Amino acid sequence: MARILVVEDEAHIAEGLQFNLEAEGHQVELATDGRRAVEVLTGSDESFDLVLLDLMLPEMNGFEVARRTRAAGIYVPILILTAKDDSADLIRGLEEGADDYLTKPFRLDELLARVKGLLRRRRWTQARGDKDVPREVSFGDVCVHLDRFEITTPKETVRLTTREMALLRALIEREGEAVTRGELLEEVWGLRADTKTRVVDSFVVRLRRYIEADPSRPRHIVSVRGHGYRLVR
Ligand code: CA
Repeated sequence: MARILVVEDEAHIAEGLQFNLEAEGHQVELATDGRRAVEVLTGSDESFDLVLLDLMLPEMNGFEVARRTRAAGIYVPILILTAKDDSADLIRGLEEGADDYLTKPFRLDELLARVKGLLRRRRWTQARGDKDVPREVSFGDVCVHLDRFEITTPKETVRLTTREMALLRALIEREGEAVTRGELLEEVWGLRADTKTRVVDSFVVRLRRYIEADPSRPRHIVSVRGHGYRLVR
């Protein structure tokens, strides 16, 4: 069972999502405008396992909800529901920190599969064929647990979102090599390598906050000018 926040202003869609997610055994809370969603996500001490986020919302749009949620240091998986197949929208959503997206109208089984995928934190080696990647990788006193999507530091345990883990994993698999933004876009987000977006860079900023002693002077996820990033242990 997971706690899921559904942010959707169209009552029939919101209620349909709630009904079907509850039928799967989840606990569902609804927010019908963007401002309320941010309040629920950042204000209380109840935490959610997943957010389904509509983009066109009263009070505050879904991009802003995602941005404020991440800015508050909350890295719950976010699945964006976009009204149309608008690639500019979905890319902006990913840049603001969303993990996945689904285009309306969507099929119920497709939605439930996405939800399951975002809630599941299984070993990537099972999902992707056994590359020779260890289950744990350390950077000084910071340890990345690839099998359970966590980073432990002397101060805290951080749960990574699926995209954060996929990005970090892609860099770890090619430790020491410069990996291009285009390669990362294809491998981690399934986007074309020439997509114009800052999504890779914004996720690197997030990862640096977890693993770098001084994120403004990174020693482990190093920028390679005009190219991409290189992971150094
Ligand atoms: Ca809407």
